[in-house]
This record gives sequence, C-alpha cells and structure tokens, in this order.
Amino acid sequence: MSQSLSTDVLIVGGGIAGLWLNARLRQQGFSTVLLECGSLGGGQSLKSQGIIHGGAKYALHGALTGASEAIADMPRRWREALAGNGELDLSGVRILSEAHYLWSPGTLAGNLTSFFASKAVRGRVDQVKGEQLPPALQHPKFKGKVYRLAELVLDVPSLIARLAELAGDGLLAAERIEPLQENAELCGLIVDGREIRAQRVVLSAGAGNAELLAALGVEQPAQQLRPLHMVLAKGPALKPLYAHCLGGGPKPRVTVTTHPAADGQWVWYLGGDLAEADGVARDEAAQIQAAQKEMAALLPWVDQSQTRWATLRVDRAEPAQSGLVRPDNAFLAEQQRLLVGWPTKLALAPDFADRVLAILQRDNLQPAGHAALPELPRPPLGLPVWEALLP
Ligand code: FAD
Repeated sequence: MSQSLSTDVLIVGGGIAGLWLNARLRQQGFSTVLLECGSLGGGQSLKSQGIIHGGAKYALHGALTGASEAIADMPRRWREALAGNGELDLSGVRILSEAHYLWSPGTLAGNLTSFFASKAVRGRVDQVKGEQLPPALQHPKFKGKVYRLAELVLDVPSLIARLAELAGDGLLAAERIEPLQENAELCGLIVDGREIRAQRVVLSAGAGNAELLAALGVEQPAQQLRPLHMVLAKGPALKPLYAHCLGGGPKPRVTVTTHPAADGQWVWYLGGDLAEADGVARDEAAQIQAAQKEMAALLPWVDQSQTRWATLRVDRAEPAQSGLVRPDNAFLAEQQRLLVGWPTKLALAPDFADRVLAILQRDNLQPAGHAALPELPRPPLGLPVWEALLP
C-alpha cells in the first residue's frame, strides 16, 4: 500500500470550483490535496463558454432576481485576480473579450424596455455602433442594436492551466475513493488504497458529487442535472462574437462565444435557447441544421461554405431545486467534516470558495503543519472541447 498522507483540506474534483478553492486555501497557509479522476477542467468547466456573468442576463424579465444580486460582484473580483492584484494571481490568463454584448436583431422588444430600466443593468449597459461593434457584426447589412455589458469572457483552458500551477504539488490522480472513518466519523478518504487524513473533506466533483455521496453513505444534498445540446462551428470566415442574441422570450435566443483553435481559426460555441429543451430533443444532425438556419438568419453575410460543425451534449450539475430552476448562487452543504457543493456557474467559483472559508473560520480551523507531500501521480489538463471535436 502507498504511504498514507495527512492534509488540512482534502478536495475531490479538479474543475473550477475545486481548483479555485484549492488555490485560495494554499494562499492562506492551509495544506491541501486535490483528487481528480479524469482530467483537470474536463468536466463542465472546459465545456463552459467562459462568460463571467454579472447577472444582467438574469434581469431580462425586468425583475431583479436573487441571481442578479448574488452574482453582481463577480466581474470585479475576477478582474482584480486577472490583473494580478486580487484574491488569486491570475495574471497571464487570457481574456478573450473585455465585454459580452446583448444583441437585439430587430427593434427593441417590449420586455427589453423594462430590462434596461432595471437596477441590475442600470449604468452597466451602453449601446455600441460602427467600429465599436463586435467584428462579426461589422457589416453594412447589419441592422440590429447592440449593447455592451461589463462582463468578461475568459479563455478557460488558460484559466485551468494557471490554477493547476497554483496547486503546486497537491494534485493527485485518483480512481477509487472510499471513506476513511474513525469512531464512525469521516476523517479522510482512502484513495486507491492510500489513506489520506484531513481536517475537512470537500466534494466539488460537479456531476460526480451524487456518486461520491452515495459511496460515503450520505443522502443529502440531492443533485439535479440540466442537459444542454451545444453546437460548435469552425471555419476560416468566422470572426469573433461574444453576445447573447435576444429573441422574444426571457432567455437569449442564442449565446455565442468565440474561441481560438490551435490552428489559428476561430470556433463559434453556440448555447442559449438553441441548446435548451428543443435542442436537447434533436439528434446531432437536426441540431446542426437548426444552428445553421439560426446563424444564416442572423448573420447572412458570413460565408459558411467552409465551416465545419459539431455538437456537444453536456449536463449542468447543481443542487436539486423544485421545477429544475437555476439556483441563485454557489451552494454548499455540510455534514460534520464533510462539505459538498456546486458553484452553479464558473463565474461563481469565488463565491463557492468564500462559503468553504467561512466554515473553516467559524470552526476556527488552523493550518496544522503537515509533512511535505511526496511526489504524487498528477492528473492531466483537460483538452478544449473544440480541439477534441473539431481538430
Ligand atoms: P466540473 O467542472 O464538472 O468539475 C468537476 C470535476 O470533478 C471534474 O473534473 C471531474 O472529472 C471530477 N470528478 C468527478 N467525480 C470524481 C471522483 N469520483 N473523483 C475524483 N474526481 C471526480 N458558467 C459561467 O459562469 N459562465 C459560462 O459561460 C458558462 N457556460 C457554460 C456552458 C455549458 C455548456 C455548461 C455545461 C456550463 C456552463 N457554465 C457556465 C457553468 C459552469 O461550467 C459550471 O457551473 C462549472 O464549470 C462547474 O464547475 P465544477 O468545478 O463544479 O464542476
């Protein structure tokens, strides 16, 4: 059996939630070990669109929801970290766009009037025209209205790589995880036969939390999965576009982000309503057709003759909510030494870490000065989805 280890906080899951938390704990002097059974970021995080929401999207009804309030401070915290003077040093992480845009292809619909009057967006949304328009919309035939939101879009692969750097020697590739108990209480985990003792165990394994909880014999919190059927397009004629295209309803008709492929081409990554219920019901061919039709209607001047298309099915994992609605902020539950949660958004990773740190502070948990870690088998970095699907 491998040498047993001890650490202050043992984290399971190397997506944005686990990696961000890990970096913050280490910066505060705690020792950590982070377990990952696949690749770093390879769950939802590298499949996300990388938008650091400030909540404006959620105010499309005109009503200020809990989500708009909770998320409003996230862009500032991320900006400071990206500038190297925030809670983490993320300088060097690539920013794909300084702004995300709201794009109304026709005239302003009624629901948008109240949207622009709402507290969540007041002072944070400016109309842009001409050369300020996103490159893909700079065309004489473009007729819509475009508003700039103060929401960043990040290159998630470079973010995950930076957080893996900040994890130092504490990353461990793990296959089989079992509970380690003392006096009928969880005191760590047995990882591929190796005992790892910890003051606290945090499950931040995204969709893997449900199975881990079952393996630990814990029933709550329950998890919900909300499926998406995303579309990717890669071609020489595509130009950058980061925008929610508004339809008549409360959800964006399509949300477009654009990502740099290794061969220098741009990849459009399409979500929003296109990827929700109706899109989930379509098979891959029908979903690609729906996306082609949508983009041809919205951006008819883009030559798509050499564009290649693919789709990606992926579930958002979250705490169970009545009616499968989206939860309002990062979620964390505790049971003795076990903490478990979901950030519910990439943008809310700082909020997830805050919640764990608040519990450690409440319990007056101090760094215990553990022995240095031996060299551990390190999990690999995940591959960007566009490289996997459209190489
Ligand atoms: P994950 O990234 O899924 O990480 C969990 C990790 O745990 C994985 O690496 C997995 O391999 C590992 N794991 C699982 N089981 C085990 C186990 N038993 N042992 C060890 N490791 C385990 N949010 C935004 O803020 N902005 C966006 O633009 C955005 N776009 C999105 C687009 C899509 C298509 C999707 C699906 C989500 C999007 N989100 C977005 C939401 C965001 O991606 C997620 O909320 C966030 O990435 C979840 O992070 P996580 O660390 O909890 O989970």
